[in-house]
Amino acid sequence: RGAPPDDQQLMQGLAEAPDVEAQMVTLVGLRELSEAERQLRSLVVTLMQEVFTEFFPGCVVRPFGSSTNGFDVHGCDLDLFLDLGDLEGPQRDPKAPASPALDSALASPLDPQALASTPASPVDSPGPASPQDSETPASSLAPPTPDSALASEALASPQSLPPMSPVQEEAGERDLGKTWEPGGSLKGEEREGEAMLELVGSVLRGCVPGVHSVWTVPSARRPVVKFCHRPSGLHGDISLSNRLALSNSRFLNLCCALDRRVRPLVYTLRCWAQGRGLTGSGPLLNNYALTLLVIYFLQTRDPPVLPSLTRLTQMAGEEERVEVDGWDCTFPREASHLEPSANTESLPSLLAQFFSCVSSWELRGSLLSLREGLPLPVADGLPPGLWGGLRLGPLNLQDPFDLSHNVAANVTGRVAGRLQNCCRESANYCRSLQFQRRSPRGRDWGLLPLLQPRSASSLLSITPIPLPPAPFSQLCAAISQVLEETLGCQIEPNGKRQSPGDGDGDARLRGTLRKRPRLEREKGQTSEGRQGEAGTEEPALEAGGEEELALAAGGEKELALEAGGEEGQPGSSGEQLHRLGQPLVEREVKPLENPGTEEVVGAVQGEETGSEAAQTWLCTLCHRVWLGRRRVRRQLQQQAKGEMSWLQAEARVTQELIAQESRKQRPEPEPPRPLLTFAAATSPSGPFLTLTQLQDPQGLFPDLHHFLHGFLPRTVRAVLGCEKGD
Ligand code: ATP
Ligand code: MG
Repeated sequence: RGAPPDDQQLMQGLAEAPDVEAQMVTLVGLRELSEAERQLRSLVVTLMQEVFTEFFPGCVVRPFGSSTNGFDVHGCDLDLFLDLGDLEGPQRDPKAPASPALDSALASPLDPQALASTPASPVDSPGPASPQDSETPASSLAPPTPDSALASEALASPQSLPPMSPVQEEAGERDLGKTWEPGGSLKGEEREGEAMLELVGSVLRGCVPGVHSVWTVPSARRPVVKFCHRPSGLHGDISLSNRLALSNSRFLNLCCALDRRVRPLVYTLRCWAQGRGLTGSGPLLNNYALTLLVIYFLQTRDPPVLPSLTRLTQMAGEEERVEVDGWDCTFPREASHLEPSANTESLPSLLAQFFSCVSSWELRGSLLSLREGLPLPVADGLPPGLWGGLRLGPLNLQDPFDLSHNVAANVTGRVAGRLQNCCRESANYCRSLQFQRRSPRGRDWGLLPLLQPRSASSLLSITPIPLPPAPFSQLCAAISQVLEETLGCQIEPNGKRQSPGDGDGDARLRGTLRKRPRLEREKGQTSEGRQGEAGTEEPALEAGGEEELALAAGGEKELALEAGGEEGQPGSSGEQLHRLGQPLVEREVKPLENPGTEEVVGAVQGEETGSEAAQTWLCTLCHRVWLGRRRVRRQLQQQAKGEMSWLQAEARVTQELIAQESRKQRPEPEPPRPLLTFAAATSPSGPFLTLTQLQDPQGLFPDLHHFLHGFLPRTVRAVLGCEKGD
């Protein structure tokens, strides 16, 4: 196999697959590591093993994470655990050398040369300043295959190691010196742990040829040393205290072996989440957490696709009993002895079900337990005495082994809300023909729209705005008031038209809302039923209806709108093409009892929860009421000398902004024309408002979203009487 496929080749490969199931399997094949890439990794591990053995005899360098857990992709990081056995951790005094190499290095700790040129070092490196002169132990590795021979060459050849830049050298020396700086106010154990980490960093930097950009992250929950390895192009982390990671990586690997559907599903969802900005660092989910979420979902199917950990522990033999850091890590080593799952759902169905389930789970009030394969209620806090230290938050996903750890504790409410919105939107898309079958016209179909990265404005559309907690009906009334009275939006609650003849924009909007024959036909049918019946209609759908279900590349879509025209016909004022955002994908139109009216049911936010239905407002703004507010507010406050309430003041600011805009229009003020239309939606399941752009020819939606993110919660609070304003 040659170079890994780029994104375009990947999409091409998927487009050519015969069906969604095949697309998911193809995705794995296109993304997973090749045999040569695996061998290269294993050579880097061997290289590290040899170098570290000189300093820590008996140590073992153990890969974990995506290199071993079955979810490897081209270029994934190399997670390593440096297992120091009894030497590890606080018990070990870093000043008590374990080897002649370490002894010699520590004899002159501030001198980087000393560390790098210890006589026992297998790399015989003259130090970080000139690693290119060093010899690597790669030539002593296992019998080379053609690929590994190439890899060995890349690792061993002195020429393949570019010289270190003076900046790196300087940084290296500075870092090395830092190793031995006094630890300040750190407590003894922490100081020792940190010193050990720095020592490992120094060994990496000074003695492993080709390694650069080494830095330690002692403050992480699991402290690590980060590194890059130039010849292999790999980057990774070394940790000293994460033995549990070996168990959880082995567990993920067992899950892959237990059911052939696990890998395609996880690969698809990792790729999907990445394109939607849901995974990464900071407040986002990381891949480990996302993978556990998928496994948890598979445990909760009926019948389960994967057994709970409790079940797996029961199935393990005596000799498989393992305890790590006080946690039970017992599960069978081999999948082949276990019963296959009785669940026969197809991959596309599991994918669609994942989206649908996650969008409806009550995340804040439950702890998703992989051990039990169940959600545990935690709305009133954790059960007394259990799992001290587990941090509850908007998304609670319990580590399968360290039960006191919420692997999604870093995830903010905003990100959790976005995850659910993305799932809701994708669940809707999975109900469309566009997902279910290959397009005969070569249009994106199946996984493609799900995996294409989204544009910034479409990501905004799925970023909810937090609202103050309040009874749902009061919250809705407050939102309505703010949108209409405070901000001057023309609004249509739940998509119902108010009266005929309202502005141009409404007419256009009606045009978009009317064009939904297929969705209405589909109502109430199973997906199989739909597929069968809709098949006969496909040409017509491709000509019109299917577009409305498209999750287009970048979340944007060209759609012909009629200005009040009849279904499928161009608008009376000529064919108009408008760029529309994703909401068209997200909405279903339900005929109401009152014929002729329609309801936009937010797939945006839209299911009914209990007795209360989600609420969606279609909003039209004719003025940039977010621009220059602060200036106008200041002027008005000065004039009114503080006599107005916050709400009155904000409504006045809006009026003044509108008046100013009209005054600028010469010679005659024109009748207001829609500037921007968007849907605002909230549901009883959480105090969030989701805004989705509908028509935005001038690209104003991101600015509006940014403004409302600050303005709405505060103003809604003021309406609810929780805050007096300022
Ligand atoms: P990637 O391709 O993103 O590197 P990965 O499968 O290696 O994917 P990571 O998120 O890098 O996943 O996690 C690697 C390992 O680090 C996990 O197997 C786990 O042991 C540990 N880990 C990562 N995140 C957490 C977390 N939030 N809580 C506990 N352990 C974690
Ligand atoms: Mg990793």
